Amino acid sequence: MDLSTLTIAEARRALDAKEYSALDLTNAYLEAIAKKDGEIHAYLEVWADSAREEAKAADAMIAAGKLQPLTGIPIAVKDNILIEGRIASSASKILEKYVASYDATVISKLKGQGVVFLGRTNMDEFALGSSTENSAYGATKNPHDTSRIPGGTSGGSAAAVAAGMALAALGSDTGGSIRQPSALCGVVGIKPTYGAVSRLGLMAAASSLDQIGAIGKTVTDAEALLHIIRGHDAGDSTSLPDSFFEKKVASRKILGVPRTFLQKGMEPDMLAAFENTLKALSDSGYKLIDIELPALEYALAVYYIINPAEVSTNLAKYDGVRYGLSVPAPTVGETYEKTRAAGFGAETRRRILTGTFVLSSGYADAYYRKAKAVRELIRADFAKAFESVDAIALPVSPIPAWKFGEKADPVAMYAADIFTVPVNLAGVPAMSIPSGFVERDGKKLPVGFQLIAAHGGEETLFKIGADVEKASA
Ligand code: GLN
Repeated sequence: MDLSTLTIAEARRALDAKEYSALDLTNAYLEAIAKKDGEIHAYLEVWADSAREEAKAADAMIAAGKLQPLTGIPIAVKDNILIEGRIASSASKILEKYVASYDATVISKLKGQGVVFLGRTNMDEFALGSSTENSAYGATKNPHDTSRIPGGTSGGSAAAVAAGMALAALGSDTGGSIRQPSALCGVVGIKPTYGAVSRLGLMAAASSLDQIGAIGKTVTDAEALLHIIRGHDAGDSTSLPDSFFEKKVASRKILGVPRTFLQKGMEPDMLAAFENTLKALSDSGYKLIDIELPALEYALAVYYIINPAEVSTNLAKYDGVRYGLSVPAPTVGETYEKTRAAGFGAETRRRILTGTFVLSSGYADAYYRKAKAVRELIRADFAKAFESVDAIALPVSPIPAWKFGEKADPVAMYAADIFTVPVNLAGVPAMSIPSGFVERDGKKLPVGFQLIAAHGGEETLFKIGADVEKASA
């Protein structure tokens, strides 16, 4: 079997036809990880023994005719999703030894399928960043060019799938963290509608923006994984009712293109790659119409107020008393200070400082409340656009994977999120689909095409996404 091209769909067929066992498949992945991950560093921990046990259990399910869509499929899990009895560190020193006491809802669902968990993947600490360089455990490398970042924050998950070290992976997306690394590593990633997938057992970064989603090699694979993990969960008060997802597939074949917005900071060959895909879609029968999303101009500014505000609140619980690292000190106040100074990396501290500032009395009206008001305008822009189009097309990133250290200025890194953050602010679903390459230093680097749908429009994304795949083939 060729793991670099293997899909869930093909593995399912071969497992059901008994061409190989789930244990064979898992062993092949463990070998690939042993061979390649020394260089890529997609994984923070590999669970070889339990993965083999899970694979044997999957083989027993298959033999007993009790198989389900993902039985025996080996996947990777981002390090901010809880699995009972396993370390989950969010790639932070503060949670280096933290062991989860329960399964995230998505994990319970996958365990019910007989999935094989290969290990936990690297990420930017607490899902803050765009390059995986903010991990406390060293960066992950892009499999297409190891001198470059894989994107972030789900960089380990995207790199694992791209390098044939997992068949699919779970990631989380607060402002682009599934779509952007998927784009930069050349795989498919979907950020579902806010509330579509339970956040119970996902370590919170910014609660009004966070969503767990799926990464796979193809649209069909991402769909297969998302269909299992989504659904109402009484344990998450923001979870949507299942009735929300009754098939809503658009049939008008109309795509909206926000022309003015997409000029923002695009490198010329990245823009050309985007235009090529649009042209191919138009040739295959899609109608493209220009749309205006005027409030999106403020999306980056709004996101980088709301995200830090929520992060500063959510991370307050890491105090050296209740969870993880604790640096002893004479008073409780000093314990907080010493623990947080030793446990948090630079970007995490920056967000906490910014967030505390924008929420502080005297500034909350000028920053946080204003940002919340503009967020409503962004939502309204999307809602209006979806009255006349099935989906909106945008690039994922204005630039391809950059070199390590190239964006040491945090604001330069934030600017690369321009096309992904509006989606989280609006709570709508979006998917990144590989659509060509650009060349840098003689290396071909993948480009991602982003499709955005209205609330609950996942099926529309899968349908049009398959056409994007065909158009890019
Ligand atoms: N790059 C964005 C940030 O740093 C998005 C991160 C994410 O989606 N988790 O906040």
